[in-house]
Amino acid sequence: MNTTEISDLQKKYLIPTYAPELALVKGSGTKVWDAEGNEYLDFLAGIAVLNVGHCHPNVVIAIQKQAAKLMHVSNLYYNERQPQLAEKLSAAAGGGKCFFCNSGAEANEGLIKLARLHGSASGKFEVITMKNSFHGRTLATLAATGQEKVQKGFAPLPTGFVYAEFNNLDSVKAAITDQTAAILVEAVQGEGGVIPAEESFLTGLRTLCDEKDILLLLDEVQTGIGRTGHWFGFQGYGIQPDAFSLAKGLGNGFPIGAIVAAPKVADVFQPGHHATTFGGTPLACAAAIAVLDTIEQENLLENTQAMGKLLLEKLKEIADQYDWIEGARGTGLMVGLVLNDSALPLQKLLQKKGLLCLATAVRVLRMLPPLTVTPKEIEQAAALVAEACKEIDEC
Ligand SMILES: *Cc1c(COP(=O)(O)O)cnc(C)c1O
Repeated sequence: MNTTEISDLQKKYLIPTYAPELALVKGSGTKVWDAEGNEYLDFLAGIAVLNVGHCHPNVVIAIQKQAAKLMHVSNLYYNERQPQLAEKLSAAAGGGKCFFCNSGAEANEGLIKLARLHGSASGKFEVITMKNSFHGRTLATLAATGQEKVQKGFAPLPTGFVYAEFNNLDSVKAAITDQTAAILVEAVQGEGGVIPAEESFLTGLRTLCDEKDILLLLDEVQTGIGRTGHWFGFQGYGIQPDAFSLAKGLGNGFPIGAIVAAPKVADVFQPGHHATTFGGTPLACAAAIAVLDTIEQENLLENTQAMGKLLLEKLKEIADQYDWIEGARGTGLMVGLVLNDSALPLQKLLQKKGLLCLATAVRVLRMLPPLTVTPKEIEQAAALVAEACKEIDEC
């Protein structure tokens, strides 16, 4: 099918929650191809999902092998892949136990339920989240998301959420009450515009939570699985959360989410408290095991730090040339070019030139290439951004 045929069929039969333009049919590493055979450098990676690149052979083979052996058994039976994956995540996290689910929103729902159950004995149920955050699109995670624009029209939302200013410890302090069960925060606000947490903010939250007996929950859905150059974003800050959520990069495109709970709260959920039919299937876990092994074998945490630094430098050089570009910021391979105005025209021009990235929080051009990205691909992408910015500046 060509793009027009695909688009016509989609408009007829899909609920229009998205408005795509490109039809992608094939991927390999950092590259994807559309239905007409045009090649693109993928600096979006399925929104921080394809951390080891499109169709990495390790992941493809793991899925093929597991699919032919056992795909799903439900959680009423052991399946060896689940504890094997949990052991690896626990080792990477410095301890803790896992619960597997299917998406980021579902993982965050799990964190919220864990915090409420843990707090229920002492009458604590409130969760403090940050303004400009993003935690998902289910009703509870929508309520946790501190952005009115995504909540509009869906009232009444579940209650028990209180919003504080990101990177403002005093604002969080002021939001704490006797009923505060947990604080939920991203190490880098992704959808919010690629805004890294300040070190004093996260370490301050850790101290505050210890003093007040509040759980510190990290939403690592986007920042996890090597994206920031550490296994998990919080590891760049030298803190340990009480529990955190994962999804996006965990299965490299195969849907899987997880919560990882530190020993202190690892046994809060007991049989009957929380469940999911599909969570942690042998197939999803086999894919995730292959992802974690690949990150280790190919030294992708080191590559992420080096390539992130290179990309940020290149973008800063471009930003310095134009007064309508404010600058560039980010951590690891979560990088944003911050404009004075909407980043959408730049996103569209880059797409025409063969580079995929995403305008976020209106004026931030967000780049999230696979962690396997090479210096050459960074140079190519930066050259395209430079070219596009020059064209925009001239017209
Ligand atoms: C994408 C994202 C989510 C939601 O994940 P889904 O898999 O789309 O439900 C939650 N939190 C953060 C930080 C995200 O980036």
